[in-house]
Amino acid sequence: MARKPLFAGNWKMNLNHLEAINLVQKLAFTLTDRDYDKADVAVIPPFTDLRSVQTLVDADKLRIVYGAQDLSAHDSGAYTGEICGSMLSKLGCTYVLVGHSERREYHGEAEALCNAKVKAAFRHSLTPILCIGEGLPVRQEGRHVEHTLAQLDGALEGVPAEQVKTIVIAYEPVWAIGTGEVATPKDAQEVCGAIRTRLAELYGDDVASVVRILYGGSVKSGNVAGIMAEADIDGALVGGASLDAGEFAKICRFG
Ligand code: PEP
Repeated sequence: MARKPLFAGNWKMNLNHLEAINLVQKLAFTLTDRDYDKADVAVIPPFTDLRSVQTLVDADKLRIVYGAQDLSAHDSGAYTGEICGSMLSKLGCTYVLVGHSERREYHGEAEALCNAKVKAAFRHSLTPILCIGEGLPVRQEGRHVEHTLAQLDGALEGVPAEQVKTIVIAYEPVWAIGTGEVATPKDAQEVCGAIRTRLAELYGDDVASVVRILYGGSVKSGNVAGIMAEADIDGALVGGASLDAGEFAKICRFG
């Protein structure tokens, strides 16, 4: 079965709710039905923008989908400052990022917590976009595949095959995020191919062949085509370049 590409724009901690509406409107104005037929397009705004994005998407029946940048591993209760999965699904979110490298680096998120968050996402009918990838020292030591697969194994522990079948994996080498330093298509394919092989070992070919694996790290309209030409890459998680509607739309058209 062919995998439909997915382009997800991670806005990080940028854009208030008015700016969010402006960006989604521009994106919707630029993308055509033909574009949405070829690829799924998602925006991942800050929590505080989600209600505005939902209102716009619903009112104008847009084909853009959206998600959140994080969720709590818990379902409710005394967790000040956290947002749980049911709150996100109630806001119409399709996706939620889990284990983005900035969460891992600045908030100490490691495998056990990512695993709990993946399970929390599925409990609330959200599709996790699980972010994994190595930092520069690990890459320099040549341990990038081993490191990334260990993150994959840890985050998926105890997750049943029928759920894994629907997950999205984003391979994001940390040294390429927000640095302008993009991995070569060959570098990206090496790890994305290894991820698919590991999924096949753990869950079988019928699961591995349908899971979408994205590349993330300084993707732009000028480099997306080379990345999309690789066999195991099914789209991109885009940070900085997703804040510009015209540039993100070009990326969604493969450049
Ligand atoms: C990201 O935030 O996941 C990302 C890939 O950022 P950038 O595209 O800016 O490198």
